[in-house]
Amino acid sequence: MSTLSVVVSVYNEESVIRKFHETVLPVLQELPCDFELLYVNDGSVDSTEVILNELAASEERVKVIHFSRNFGHEAAMIAGIDYATGDYIVCMDADLQHPPEKLRDIYQAFLEDNEIVLMVRNSNKDAGLFKNITSSAFYALLNWLGNDKFVRNVSDFFGMNRLVADLFRREYREKRRYLRGYIQHIGFRKKILSYEAAPRYAGESKYNVKRLMNVFVIAIVNFSKNLVRAGFAFAGLALVISLVFAIYSVVLYCRIHVWSGIGVLASVISFFFALQFVLMGIMGEYIGAILSETNRRPIYIVRDTRHIEKSVK
Ligand code: UDP
Ligand code: MG
Repeated sequence: MSTLSVVVSVYNEESVIRKFHETVLPVLQELPCDFELLYVNDGSVDSTEVILNELAASEERVKVIHFSRNFGHEAAMIAGIDYATGDYIVCMDADLQHPPEKLRDIYQAFLEDNEIVLMVRNSNKDAGLFKNITSSAFYALLNWLGNDKFVRNVSDFFGMNRLVADLFRREYREKRRYLRGYIQHIGFRKKILSYEAAPRYAGESKYNVKRLMNVFVIAIVNFSKNLVRAGFAFAGLALVISLVFAIYSVVLYCRIHVWSGIGVLASVISFFFALQFVLMGIMGEYIGAILSETNRRPIYIVRDTRHIEKSVK
């Protein structure tokens, strides 16, 4: 029988975690598979730790990892994937915004031979106008700047099979991660399911504007080479300005035999700005190259082979 691992990242959720547990457990017990429920306590400073240990004491299939401090949601999900032992792994939040009953559909999608299941949020009642607008702007900008196109509103609610999980365990070990991006960019057979994000059951969102900005910057830097090329675009602009002033000055000189001091000066300054921007663009290219070497993402990913002895890497 196959096993489903559910990874839940938990940070200061003492007001929610019991309710989450009571809701998710019956769903898991009903599924026609074995399961493990793996809580990753991301350095909570409230009574979350005590509650989680209590929950684990009552059921062997409930497992807990406690971090030494807060490492962030992404790190908690990575650790959960690392430690999960199931054939299928689903990551979800502890605040009941990701409806546990959707685990049935996700499991079904795996049985239908999908390797990745992405959960797309239909609406977010909790978020309010500000968060919905910033979220739309986030995806619009990311897709505009980035080389990879991302599905909008893909959440931190997703599932993968063991093969994909092994890739995350081995290859995607960057310190600055954007897991939601990787899971879309990694390939494989995917199924996209939608869900209605419920309001947070209790407690407060841990993602403030500063943290969201951080996620955004990481996503842009990890998935877009276009920004480092901005230098070339500015160089082009400066060159055009330089030419306009040069032509203006020459035309003026031909007509009235007087050099326009401002025209010549502006043309010379713009020209040197163009040169400087070109150099910045070149430096950007080198930095981009360093980035793609240091992030150690795989050059290719093999899903399966026939008559090949070497193990799948
Ligand atoms: N979380 C975490 N570490 C953090 C911040 C959040 O493990 O540093 C967990 C949190 O307990 C929750 C999930 O990540 O289970 C999503 O966080 P939250 O609900 O605050 O974010 P939002 O849904 O508002 O984007
Ligand atoms: Mg939430």
